Amino acid sequence: MSIFDAHDFDGHEQVTFCYDAASGLKAIIAIHNTNLGPALGGCRFWPYATEEEAIKDVLRLSRGMTYKAALANLELGGGKSVIIGDPHKDKTPEKLRAFGRFVERLGGLYSTAEDVGTNPKDMSIIGEVTSHVVGREAKEGGSGDPSIMTALGVFAGIRACVFYKMGKDSLHGVRVGVEGLGHVGIDLVRRLSQAGASLVVTDIDQSVVQTVVHQYGATAVGPDEIFSTNIDVFVPCALGGILNDETIPQLKCKIIAGSANNQLAEPYHATALEKREILYAPDYLINAGGLINVTYEGPDYDIAAVKNHVESIYYTLLEIFETAKTFHMTTSEASDRLARERFSKK
Ligand code: NAD
Repeated sequence: MSIFDAHDFDGHEQVTFCYDAASGLKAIIAIHNTNLGPALGGCRFWPYATEEEAIKDVLRLSRGMTYKAALANLELGGGKSVIIGDPHKDKTPEKLRAFGRFVERLGGLYSTAEDVGTNPKDMSIIGEVTSHVVGREAKEGGSGDPSIMTALGVFAGIRACVFYKMGKDSLHGVRVGVEGLGHVGIDLVRRLSQAGASLVVTDIDQSVVQTVVHQYGATAVGPDEIFSTNIDVFVPCALGGILNDETIPQLKCKIIAGSANNQLAEPYHATALEKREILYAPDYLINAGGLINVTYEGPDYDIAAVKNHVESIYYTLLEIFETAKTFHMTTSEASDRLARERFSKK
Protein backbone atom coordinates (compact mmCIF):
# COMPACT_ATOMS: atom_id res chain seq x y z
CA MET A 1 0.00 0.00 0.00
CA SER A 2 1.29 3.46 -0.85
CA ILE A 3 1.00 5.91 2.02
CA PHE A 4 1.64 9.08 0.08
CA ASP A 5 -1.11 8.27 -2.42
CA ALA A 6 -3.58 6.97 0.18
CA HIS A 7 -7.01 8.61 0.14
CA ASP A 8 -6.63 9.76 3.74
CA PHE A 9 -3.08 11.04 3.39
CA ASP A 10 -3.36 14.80 3.71
CA GLY A 11 0.15 16.18 3.78
CA HIS A 12 0.85 14.35 7.05
CA GLU A 13 4.22 15.40 8.44
CA GLN A 14 5.29 12.07 9.86
CA VAL A 15 3.96 8.53 10.09
CA THR A 16 5.91 6.19 12.35
CA PHE A 17 5.54 2.40 12.29
CA CYS A 18 6.44 0.88 15.63
CA TYR A 19 7.34 -2.77 16.18
CA ASP A 20 8.62 -4.40 19.33
CA ALA A 21 9.48 -8.08 19.03
CA ALA A 22 9.60 -8.81 22.77
CA SER A 23 6.06 -7.62 23.53
CA GLY A 24 4.59 -8.15 20.06
CA LEU A 25 3.63 -4.47 19.76
CA LYS A 26 2.51 -3.30 16.35
CA ALA A 27 1.56 0.36 16.38
CA ILE A 28 1.40 3.39 14.11
CA ILE A 29 1.79 7.00 15.21
CA ALA A 30 0.62 9.64 12.73
CA ILE A 31 1.45 13.31 13.08
CA HIS A 32 -0.67 15.37 10.72
CA ASN A 33 0.33 18.97 11.33
CA THR A 34 2.36 20.75 14.01
CA ASN A 35 2.12 24.35 12.83
CA LEU A 36 0.24 25.38 15.97
CA GLY A 37 2.26 23.24 18.37
CA PRO A 38 3.23 19.64 19.17
CA ALA A 39 0.68 17.00 18.23
CA LEU A 40 -1.73 15.57 20.78
CA GLY A 41 -4.19 12.76 20.22
CA GLY A 42 -5.43 9.53 21.71
CA CYS A 43 -4.14 6.01 21.31
CA ARG A 44 -6.72 3.62 19.90
CA PHE A 45 -6.31 -0.10 20.66
CA TRP A 46 -8.33 -1.94 18.04
CA PRO A 47 -8.33 -5.33 16.26
CA TYR A 48 -7.98 -3.97 12.72
CA ALA A 49 -8.61 -6.69 10.16
CA THR A 50 -5.78 -5.43 7.95
CA GLU A 51 -2.81 -3.09 8.23
CA GLU A 52 -4.42 -0.93 5.52
CA GLU A 53 -7.42 -0.41 7.81
CA ALA A 54 -5.16 0.65 10.67
CA ILE A 55 -3.25 3.08 8.44
CA LYS A 56 -6.48 4.56 7.08
CA ASP A 57 -7.84 5.06 10.60
CA VAL A 58 -4.70 6.66 12.02
CA LEU A 59 -4.38 9.04 9.06
CA ARG A 60 -8.04 10.06 9.27
CA LEU A 61 -8.07 10.44 13.06
CA SER A 62 -4.82 12.43 13.25
CA ARG A 63 -6.05 14.84 10.59
CA GLY A 64 -9.24 15.35 12.59
CA MET A 65 -7.21 16.26 15.68
CA THR A 66 -5.49 19.12 13.83
CA TYR A 67 -8.89 20.62 12.99
CA LYS A 68 -10.25 20.03 16.48
CA ALA A 69 -7.29 21.61 18.26
CA ALA A 70 -7.26 24.61 15.91
CA LEU A 71 -10.93 25.37 16.47
CA ALA A 72 -10.56 24.92 20.22
CA ASN A 73 -7.90 27.66 20.13
CA LEU A 74 -5.20 25.34 21.43
CA GLU A 75 -1.53 25.70 20.66
CA LEU A 76 -1.47 22.09 19.56
CA GLY A 77 -1.12 20.08 16.41
CA GLY A 78 -2.94 16.96 15.35
CA GLY A 79 -1.75 13.43 15.92
CA LYS A 80 -3.14 10.04 16.80
CA SER A 81 -1.87 6.53 17.29
CA VAL A 82 -3.23 3.04 16.89
CA ILE A 83 -2.11 -0.21 18.47
CA ILE A 84 -3.19 -3.22 16.43
CA GLY A 85 -4.87 -5.86 18.59
CA ASP A 86 -7.89 -6.75 20.65
CA PRO A 87 -7.81 -4.64 23.84
CA HIS A 88 -9.62 -7.41 25.77
CA LYS A 89 -7.14 -10.13 24.80
CA ASP A 90 -3.93 -8.54 23.57
CA LYS A 91 -3.36 -5.58 25.87
CA THR A 92 -0.37 -6.13 28.18
CA PRO A 93 1.66 -3.71 30.32
CA GLU A 94 4.75 -4.72 28.25
CA LYS A 95 3.04 -3.65 25.04
CA LEU A 96 1.89 -0.36 26.54
CA ARG A 97 5.40 0.37 27.84
CA ALA A 98 6.92 -0.52 24.47
CA PHE A 99 4.47 1.90 22.87
CA GLY A 100 5.41 4.55 25.46
CA ARG A 101 9.09 4.16 24.55
CA PHE A 102 8.25 4.94 20.91
CA VAL A 103 6.31 8.02 22.02
CA GLU A 104 9.33 9.05 24.12
CA ARG A 105 11.63 8.70 21.11
CA LEU A 106 9.61 11.36 19.30
CA GLY A 107 10.90 13.79 21.91
CA GLY A 108 7.60 15.58 22.58
CA LEU A 109 6.51 16.02 18.98
CA TYR A 110 3.56 13.78 19.86
CA SER A 111 1.76 13.26 23.17
CA THR A 112 -0.66 10.41 23.64
CA ALA A 113 -3.93 10.07 25.55
CA GLU A 114 -6.77 7.59 26.04
CA ASP A 115 -9.12 6.65 23.21
CA VAL A 116 -11.29 3.69 22.22
CA GLY A 117 -9.72 0.58 23.77
CA THR A 118 -7.48 2.45 26.20
CA ASN A 119 -8.17 4.11 29.55
CA PRO A 120 -6.56 6.33 32.22
CA LYS A 121 -4.93 3.24 33.82
CA ASP A 122 -3.21 2.41 30.52
CA MET A 123 -2.00 6.01 30.31
CA SER A 124 -0.46 5.62 33.76
CA ILE A 125 1.47 2.54 32.53
CA ILE A 126 2.62 4.40 29.41
CA GLY A 127 3.59 7.27 31.74
CA GLU A 128 6.17 4.99 33.40
CA VAL A 129 8.40 5.41 30.35
CA THR A 130 7.42 8.76 28.85
CA SER A 131 6.25 12.13 30.12
CA HIS A 132 4.46 12.77 26.84
CA VAL A 133 1.12 11.39 27.97
CA VAL A 134 -2.04 13.03 29.31
CA GLY A 135 -5.26 11.67 30.76
CA ARG A 136 -3.64 9.59 33.47
CA GLU A 137 -5.58 8.56 36.54
CA ALA A 138 -6.41 11.46 38.87
CA LYS A 139 -4.39 9.84 41.71
CA GLU A 140 -1.34 10.06 39.45
CA GLY A 141 -1.80 13.78 38.80
CA GLY A 142 -3.92 13.25 35.69
CA SER A 143 -7.11 15.17 34.95
CA GLY A 144 -9.28 12.03 35.21
CA ASP A 145 -12.56 11.55 33.35
CA PRO A 146 -12.78 14.07 30.46
CA SER A 147 -16.52 13.49 29.93
CA ILE A 148 -17.63 16.16 32.40
CA MET A 149 -15.85 18.87 30.43
CA THR A 150 -17.06 17.40 27.15
CA ALA A 151 -20.62 17.66 28.50
CA LEU A 152 -20.02 21.25 29.62
CA GLY A 153 -18.87 22.15 26.09
CA VAL A 154 -21.87 20.48 24.48
CA PHE A 155 -24.16 22.28 26.91
CA ALA A 156 -22.58 25.63 25.93
CA GLY A 157 -22.97 24.62 22.28
CA ILE A 158 -26.65 23.76 22.68
CA ARG A 159 -27.23 27.18 24.25
CA ALA A 160 -25.47 28.86 21.30
CA CYS A 161 -27.60 26.91 18.80
CA VAL A 162 -30.85 27.69 20.61
CA PHE A 163 -29.92 31.36 20.74
CA TYR A 164 -28.99 31.45 17.04
CA LYS A 165 -31.84 29.37 15.64
CA MET A 166 -34.67 30.04 18.08
CA GLY A 167 -33.71 33.48 19.40
CA LYS A 168 -33.90 32.18 22.96
CA ASP A 169 -31.43 33.02 25.70
CA SER A 170 -32.67 30.25 27.95
CA LEU A 171 -33.32 26.53 27.58
CA HIS A 172 -36.46 26.76 29.67
CA GLY A 173 -39.18 24.76 27.96
CA VAL A 174 -36.96 23.84 25.00
CA ARG A 175 -37.61 20.22 23.96
CA VAL A 176 -34.30 18.35 23.89
CA GLY A 177 -33.80 14.71 22.85
CA VAL A 178 -30.65 13.00 24.12
CA GLU A 179 -29.50 9.80 22.40
CA GLY A 180 -26.99 7.85 24.52
CA LEU A 181 -26.92 8.15 28.31
CA GLY A 182 -23.30 7.22 28.91
CA HIS A 183 -20.52 9.32 30.43
CA VAL A 184 -21.31 12.46 28.44
CA GLY A 185 -25.06 12.00 27.96
CA ILE A 186 -25.89 11.53 31.61
CA ASP A 187 -24.04 14.67 32.71
CA LEU A 188 -25.72 16.63 29.92
CA VAL A 189 -29.13 15.44 31.05
CA ARG A 190 -28.36 16.76 34.52
CA ARG A 191 -27.36 20.17 33.15
CA LEU A 192 -30.31 20.35 30.74
CA SER A 193 -32.74 19.43 33.48
CA GLN A 194 -31.33 22.14 35.76
CA ALA A 195 -31.76 24.63 32.91
CA GLY A 196 -35.45 23.75 32.63
CA ALA A 197 -35.35 21.89 29.31
CA SER A 198 -38.08 19.38 28.55
CA LEU A 199 -36.27 16.06 28.11
CA VAL A 200 -36.75 13.06 25.84
CA VAL A 201 -34.12 10.32 26.20
CA THR A 202 -33.10 7.04 24.63
CA ASP A 203 -30.44 4.38 25.08
CA ILE A 204 -30.09 0.72 24.17
CA ASP A 205 -29.53 0.10 27.90
CA GLN A 206 -33.00 0.21 29.47
CA SER A 207 -31.73 0.35 33.04
CA VAL A 208 -30.03 3.70 32.50
CA VAL A 209 -33.12 5.00 30.68
CA GLN A 210 -35.31 4.09 33.65
CA THR A 211 -32.92 5.84 36.06
CA VAL A 212 -33.03 9.03 34.02
CA VAL A 213 -36.82 8.91 33.64
CA HIS A 214 -37.16 8.48 37.39
CA GLN A 215 -34.53 11.05 38.40
CA TYR A 216 -35.25 13.83 35.91
CA GLY A 217 -38.82 13.24 34.80
CA ALA A 218 -37.65 12.64 31.23
CA THR A 219 -39.81 10.91 28.62
CA ALA A 220 -38.32 7.69 27.20
CA VAL A 221 -38.52 6.71 23.53
CA GLY A 222 -37.02 3.74 21.67
CA PRO A 223 -33.60 4.09 19.97
CA ASP A 224 -35.26 4.14 16.53
CA GLU A 225 -37.99 6.56 17.56
CA ILE A 226 -35.74 9.44 18.64
CA PHE A 227 -35.18 10.61 15.05
CA SER A 228 -38.86 11.21 14.35
CA THR A 229 -39.72 12.58 17.79
CA ASN A 230 -41.06 16.10 17.89
CA ILE A 231 -38.18 17.93 19.58
CA ASP A 232 -36.34 21.23 19.11
CA VAL A 233 -32.80 19.91 19.68
CA PHE A 234 -31.45 16.45 18.89
CA VAL A 235 -28.35 15.62 20.95
CA PRO A 236 -26.46 12.55 19.65
CA CYS A 237 -24.21 11.19 22.39
CA ALA A 238 -23.91 7.57 21.27
CA LEU A 239 -22.43 6.41 17.98
CA GLY A 240 -21.13 8.03 14.81
CA GLY A 241 -22.79 7.86 11.39
CA ILE A 242 -26.31 8.46 12.74
CA LEU A 243 -27.03 11.36 10.36
CA ASN A 244 -27.57 9.46 7.13
CA ASP A 245 -29.93 8.89 4.17
CA GLU A 246 -32.33 6.95 6.35
CA THR A 247 -32.48 9.18 9.46
CA ILE A 248 -32.29 12.71 8.02
CA PRO A 249 -35.70 12.57 6.26
CA GLN A 250 -37.30 11.48 9.57
CA LEU A 251 -35.94 14.36 11.67
CA LYS A 252 -38.39 16.84 13.15
CA CYS A 253 -35.82 18.88 15.10
CA LYS A 254 -34.50 22.37 14.37
CA ILE A 255 -31.01 21.79 15.76
CA ILE A 256 -28.47 18.94 16.06
CA ALA A 257 -25.84 19.46 18.74
CA GLY A 258 -24.23 16.49 20.46
CA SER A 259 -20.94 14.90 21.48
CA ALA A 260 -20.81 11.83 19.23
CA ASN A 261 -17.82 11.74 16.89
CA ASN A 262 -18.35 11.58 13.11
CA GLN A 263 -22.11 12.11 13.24
CA LEU A 264 -22.45 12.71 9.49
CA ALA A 265 -22.30 9.38 7.66
CA GLU A 266 -20.94 11.22 4.59
CA PRO A 267 -19.90 14.86 4.06
CA TYR A 268 -22.92 15.45 1.77
CA HIS A 269 -25.23 14.87 4.71
CA ALA A 270 -24.30 18.36 5.94
CA THR A 271 -25.98 19.71 2.79
CA ALA A 272 -28.97 17.43 3.34
CA LEU A 273 -29.43 18.92 6.83
CA GLU A 274 -29.11 22.44 5.52
CA LYS A 275 -31.75 21.78 2.87
CA ARG A 276 -34.07 20.76 5.69
CA GLU A 277 -33.11 23.99 7.54
CA ILE A 278 -31.70 22.02 10.46
CA LEU A 279 -28.82 23.80 12.19
CA TYR A 280 -25.89 21.42 12.68
CA ALA A 281 -23.18 22.07 15.27
CA PRO A 282 -20.01 20.44 13.83
CA ASP A 283 -19.16 17.53 16.14
CA TYR A 284 -15.42 18.09 16.43
CA LEU A 285 -16.03 21.67 17.54
CA ILE A 286 -18.81 21.11 20.07
CA ASN A 287 -17.20 18.00 21.64
CA ALA A 288 -13.74 19.52 22.25
CA GLY A 289 -14.24 20.03 26.02
CA GLY A 290 -12.39 16.84 26.95
CA LEU A 291 -9.42 17.74 24.76
CA ILE A 292 -9.29 21.25 26.20
CA ASN A 293 -9.35 19.75 29.70
CA VAL A 294 -6.31 17.49 29.23
CA THR A 295 -4.21 20.38 27.96
CA TYR A 296 -4.54 22.02 31.38
CA GLU A 297 -3.38 18.88 33.18
CA GLY A 298 -0.55 19.28 35.67
CA PRO A 299 0.25 20.69 39.09
CA ASP A 300 -1.26 24.09 38.19
CA TYR A 301 -4.57 22.62 36.99
CA ASP A 302 -7.08 25.47 37.26
CA ILE A 303 -10.66 24.29 36.87
CA ALA A 304 -12.06 27.82 36.49
CA ALA A 305 -9.70 28.47 33.56
CA VAL A 306 -10.66 25.14 31.98
CA LYS A 307 -14.38 25.89 32.26
CA ASN A 308 -13.88 29.34 30.77
CA HIS A 309 -12.02 27.87 27.83
CA VAL A 310 -14.56 25.09 27.31
CA GLU A 311 -17.47 27.55 27.40
CA SER A 312 -15.82 29.60 24.62
CA ILE A 313 -17.24 26.90 22.31
CA TYR A 314 -20.44 29.01 22.54
CA TYR A 315 -18.79 31.95 20.73
CA THR A 316 -16.88 29.83 18.21
CA LEU A 317 -20.15 28.22 17.16
CA LEU A 318 -21.83 31.60 16.68
CA GLU A 319 -18.86 32.67 14.53
CA ILE A 320 -19.17 29.50 12.43
CA PHE A 321 -22.92 30.00 11.94
CA GLU A 322 -22.39 33.59 10.78
CA THR A 323 -19.61 32.53 8.38
CA ALA A 324 -21.80 29.77 6.96
CA LYS A 325 -24.63 32.25 6.38
CA THR A 326 -22.44 34.92 4.85
CA PHE A 327 -20.60 32.60 2.45
CA HIS A 328 -23.55 30.28 1.68
CA MET A 329 -21.81 27.18 2.92
CA THR A 330 -22.71 24.44 5.36
CA THR A 331 -21.68 24.79 8.99
CA SER A 332 -19.25 21.88 8.46
CA GLU A 333 -17.58 23.69 5.58
CA ALA A 334 -17.40 26.90 7.62
CA SER A 335 -15.74 25.15 10.57
CA ASP A 336 -13.26 23.33 8.32
CA ARG A 337 -12.42 26.65 6.73
CA LEU A 338 -11.84 28.47 10.02
CA ALA A 339 -9.70 25.58 11.30
CA ARG A 340 -7.60 25.59 8.12
CA GLU A 341 -7.11 29.35 8.36
CA ARG A 342 -5.78 28.88 11.88
CA PHE A 343 -3.47 25.92 11.41
CA SER A 344 -2.16 26.88 7.99
CA LYS A 345 -0.45 29.91 9.48
CA LYS A 346 3.03 29.35 10.75
P1 NAD B 1 -20.26 5.95 26.55
O1 NAD B 1 -19.81 4.67 25.94
O2 NAD B 1 -20.04 6.20 27.99
O3 NAD B 1 -21.83 6.12 26.29
C1 NAD B 1 -22.46 5.83 25.09
C2 NAD B 1 -23.92 5.46 25.40
O4 NAD B 1 -24.61 5.30 24.16
C3 NAD B 1 -24.07 4.15 26.17
O5 NAD B 1 -24.94 4.34 27.29
C4 NAD B 1 -24.68 3.20 25.14
O6 NAD B 1 -25.53 2.23 25.72
C5 NAD B 1 -25.46 4.17 24.27
N1 NAD B 1 -25.75 3.68 22.92
C6 NAD B 1 -24.98 2.93 22.10
N2 NAD B 1 -25.62 2.69 20.95
C7 NAD B 1 -26.81 3.32 21.03
C8 NAD B 1 -27.91 3.45 20.15
N3 NAD B 1 -27.92 2.88 18.95
N4 NAD B 1 -28.99 4.19 20.55
C9 NAD B 1 -29.00 4.76 21.77
N5 NAD B 1 -27.98 4.67 22.65
C10 NAD B 1 -26.90 3.95 22.29
O7 NAD B 1 -19.60 7.09 25.65
P2 NAD B 1 -19.34 8.61 26.06
O8 NAD B 1 -17.98 8.74 26.64
O9 NAD B 1 -20.51 9.15 26.80
O10 NAD B 1 -19.26 9.28 24.61
C11 NAD B 1 -20.43 9.45 23.83
C12 NAD B 1 -20.03 9.90 22.42
O11 NAD B 1 -19.30 11.13 22.50
C13 NAD B 1 -19.11 8.92 21.67
O12 NAD B 1 -19.39 8.99 20.30
C14 NAD B 1 -17.71 9.49 21.91
O13 NAD B 1 -16.81 9.13 20.89
C15 NAD B 1 -18.01 10.98 21.90
N6 NAD B 1 -17.03 11.78 22.64
C16 NAD B 1 -16.85 11.55 23.96
C17 NAD B 1 -15.93 12.32 24.67
C18 NAD B 1 -15.71 12.11 26.16
O14 NAD B 1 -15.09 12.96 26.81
N7 NAD B 1 -16.22 11.02 26.74
C19 NAD B 1 -15.21 13.34 24.02
C20 NAD B 1 -15.44 13.56 22.65
C21 NAD B 1 -16.36 12.78 21.98
